[in-house]
Amino acid sequence: MFSDKDEFKEAFLKKLEMTCGKSFNESTVKDQFYTLGLLIREYVSTEWINTNEHYRIDKVKQVYYFSIEFLLGRLLRHNLLNLGIEDIVESGLNDLGIDLTDLEVVESDAGLGNGGLGRLAACFLDSLASLNLPGHGCGIRYKHGLFEQKIVDGYQVELPDQWLRNGHVWEVRKADLAIEIPFWGEVEVREEKGRKLFRHINAERVTAVPYDMPIAGYKTDTINTLRLWSAEPSRYPINQDVLKYKKETEAISEFLYPDDTQDEGKILRLKQQYFLVSASIKSIIQTYKRQHRGLSEFHKYISIHINDTHPVLAIPELMRVLMDEEGLGWDTAWRITTETISYTNHTTLSEALEKWPVRIFQPLLPRIFMIVNEINERFCQKLWDRYPGEWEKIESLAIIAHDQVKMAHLAIVGSHSVNGVAALHTDILKYREMNQFYKIYPEKFNNKTNGITHRNWLLKSNPHLSNLITESIGDKWIKNPNHLEELLTYSNDSSFLDSLASIKLANKKKLVKRIEAQTGEKIDEHSIFDIQVKRLHAYKRQLLNIFHVMYLYNRLKEDSHFHMHPRTFIFGAKASPGYYFAKKVIKLINAVAQKVNNDPYTKDKLKVTFLENYRVSLAEDVFPAADVSEQISTASKEASGTGNMKFMMNGAITVGTLDGANVEIHEKVGEENIFIFGLSAEEVLNYYHHGGYHSMEYYHHDKRIQQVMDQLKNGFFPEVMDEFEPIFDSLVMENDQYFVLRDFASYVNIQERTGAAYENSMKWRQMSLVNIAKSGYFSSDRTIDEYAKEIWRIHPTR
Ligand SMILES: *Cc1c(COP(=O)(O)O)cnc(C)c1O
Repeated sequence: MFSDKDEFKEAFLKKLEMTCGKSFNESTVKDQFYTLGLLIREYVSTEWINTNEHYRIDKVKQVYYFSIEFLLGRLLRHNLLNLGIEDIVESGLNDLGIDLTDLEVVESDAGLGNGGLGRLAACFLDSLASLNLPGHGCGIRYKHGLFEQKIVDGYQVELPDQWLRNGHVWEVRKADLAIEIPFWGEVEVREEKGRKLFRHINAERVTAVPYDMPIAGYKTDTINTLRLWSAEPSRYPINQDVLKYKKETEAISEFLYPDDTQDEGKILRLKQQYFLVSASIKSIIQTYKRQHRGLSEFHKYISIHINDTHPVLAIPELMRVLMDEEGLGWDTAWRITTETISYTNHTTLSEALEKWPVRIFQPLLPRIFMIVNEINERFCQKLWDRYPGEWEKIESLAIIAHDQVKMAHLAIVGSHSVNGVAALHTDILKYREMNQFYKIYPEKFNNKTNGITHRNWLLKSNPHLSNLITESIGDKWIKNPNHLEELLTYSNDSSFLDSLASIKLANKKKLVKRIEAQTGEKIDEHSIFDIQVKRLHAYKRQLLNIFHVMYLYNRLKEDSHFHMHPRTFIFGAKASPGYYFAKKVIKLINAVAQKVNNDPYTKDKLKVTFLENYRVSLAEDVFPAADVSEQISTASKEASGTGNMKFMMNGAITVGTLDGANVEIHEKVGEENIFIFGLSAEEVLNYYHHGGYHSMEYYHHDKRIQQVMDQLKNGFFPEVMDEFEPIFDSLVMENDQYFVLRDFASYVNIQERTGAAYENSMKWRQMSLVNIAKSGYFSSDRTIDEYAKEIWRIHPTR
C-alpha cells in the first residue's frame, strides 16, 4: 500500500481522482475525508482477510459480543493511531496543504447507543483487537442513532440523527451473506420416527444484510470485525400490501430505542432484538459449519456474550437452531447453549429490567415462545423440587409469570456466567436483587469491573498529556496501562507538576474556544472546571449539582465575606424523549445559567454552562479539560459508571458518592485523593426497606434547602411560571426517592473542601497525578483480559 509519506501522497491523490472524479484542486474537505477513509480501509484489507483465515484454519475459539448499542464516535484518528500510520498520513496531508483535524471533524459520530452501555461495547472492541483476542461485535445498523439535541429557550429539542447522510466510509456491505428472519405465522408440529418436528409456516420474512467494519488493534496484526445488520424487504413478500410491508421492514433498523409506550413500539423493539440475535447466530453457525463437523462441540469454539438483556433471545434462538435445524435433542442443545452464552447485568433499577407481555411475544415469535415456555417449565420444576409448596417464591423467580416474559430471569437460567460491572454492583446482585438466583446458581455469578480504552480516552483525546507521559516513562503504557503507575516517581518533581498544570490549562482553553464558538459565552479558564456529563436521569442527581449552584449564588448575594474560588459548572446531558422529569431538570439548569451568568454581582465567581448534544466526539474535548468530576448518583443506583474513569485518567479529582466504580477509584487513589460524601449504598437500601426518611424534615430544618426549594416556585426565575413545581413536589411532597435533600448538606460540605483544596495548587497537582497514575486498572484491557480468561476462555493469537 504505502510505507512512507511520498507513497501515501501518491496513493491519496490517485484515489481521490478515481473515487470523486475530480482533480485535487476541485476537491472538498468531504471528498478528502472520504478518500482517506477508503484508503485506510484498503490498507487494512489484507490483514483483515489474514486474521479471518487464521481463525478459520487454526480453529481458534472466538467470542461474539452481542449488543443493541455500539457508541463508536469518530473513527478516523482512532484507525490511524491503531494502524501506526498517523505520522505518515498527517505529514503527507500537510505537504498537500491539508490539516488532518479539518478532515476529522467532517466525520459524523456513529452514535448507535445511548450512553455507558454502548460506549463500553466500543471500548471492548478496541481492547479485544489490541490484545490480539479473537472477538467480534454484532449489532444493528440503525439508520438514525441517538437523536441530535438542540437547546431552544432552555428546552431540549430532538432532531433525528443523520449520521449516514454522507455514507459511512468504514463499512463493507455484504449482500451475499444476507439472512432471512421470520416473524408472525404459526408453528406446524409433525411426528416422524418418534420425534417431534417443528416448522414455522406463514411467516413474514425480513432480510438482514450485514455491514462489516474492520476493528484494528493498536499496532498489532489483528483485525476483528464489527458486523451491523440492516433490515431490508425480502425478495418474495407474501404480504399483499407491499408498501406497508416495506415500511414495517425497514423500521426494524430505522431507530435506536423506538418509543415503546404503545404496543406498536413494543412490537418493534422485540422485533429488533430477535432480528439482531437470529441474524447473528445463523451467520455464526454458517461459518462454523464450514470448519467443523457437527455441532456437539460448538461451545468449545464459540462464546456468545450478551450485553444486558436486549440480546437474550440468543438463548432460545440457539436452542431452536440446534434442535429444529440441526436435529439435536433438548438436553444436548441446552448444554451447548448454556455453555456458549454469558450475560452481563447492567442495572438493578426495576423500571429498567426488561419484560415483554406474552400477548405480544407469542404471536410475533411463535416458535421462540414455545421454547421459552419449555425452558420456564423445566426451571419451575427444578424450583418445585427445591422449594416444594412455596408458590410465591416460585412465581417470583419464574421466567414467565403474570403474562410477562422476564428477560433477566431467562438470561440467568440460560447462561453459564452472570456478571455485574463493579464490585459493589455485583454484591448488590448477589446478596440483594438477585439473591434467590445466587442461592440456586452461586457458581454463575462473578464481577467484571468496567473499563475504558485508555487509547481513546487518553492517547487520542489528550495528546499533550500523552506526550508528557511518554517523555517521562516511555511508551510502554500504551500497550500496558499498568505502567502509568511509574508516574508516581514524579510526585515531588515540580517541573513535571508544572507541565501537568499547563497541559490542563491548554485543554481548558481549547474547550473554552469550543463553547465560545457555539454559544458566545465567555469562560474564565482559571476558574475550576467542575463537570457533570452523562445521561440525564433522576438517580444521577444532576439536581443535587444545580441546587448546590443555587445555594452558592444565594450565599454570594447574601454574605459579602463569603469566599470561593471562581467555578464554572459545566453540564452535558441528553434526556430520553419521553422522560418528562429529566427535561424539567434540563430547563432548570438553563434557567439557573441564565440567572447566574447575567448577574454582575456573581458572574466573576459563578458560571453555569450547558453543553448541547453531548456525545463521544464532544466528550473527547471535555474530559481532558476537567478539574472536578461529578459522580454523585444515589449510592447503590449507578452500576459502575465509566465517565468517572475517563475523568480520573485525565487528572480530574472525583467528587462522588460511594457508588459503582467510585468505590474502587476510592480504593486505588486513597482517601486523600478523592472527595467522598453522602449516604452509603447500605444506608440507602436500608431506608428503602425499613423507611425512616422524611424529606419534608430536611426542607423545614435546613434553611439553605428551604430557600432553594422555594425559589423553584416563588418567581425567582422570572419567565418561568409553574414550570418547576413538579421538581419541588417530587422532592418535598413525594419524599425525594433519590435522597437529594438528604445528601445536600454533606455535598455542600465536601464541595467547600474541594474548592479550598484547589487553592493549594501544588497539592492539587499531586492529587491529579495520583489519579492519572492509578487509572491503569480502569483500562478496558484489564477488564477484557478478565472476561477472556474467566468467562470466555479465549486466548491471544499469534
Ligand atoms: C462514557 C460515556 C457515557 C457514560 O457516562 P457515565 O458517566 O458513566 O454515565 C455516556 N455518554 C458518552 C458519550 C460517553 O462517552
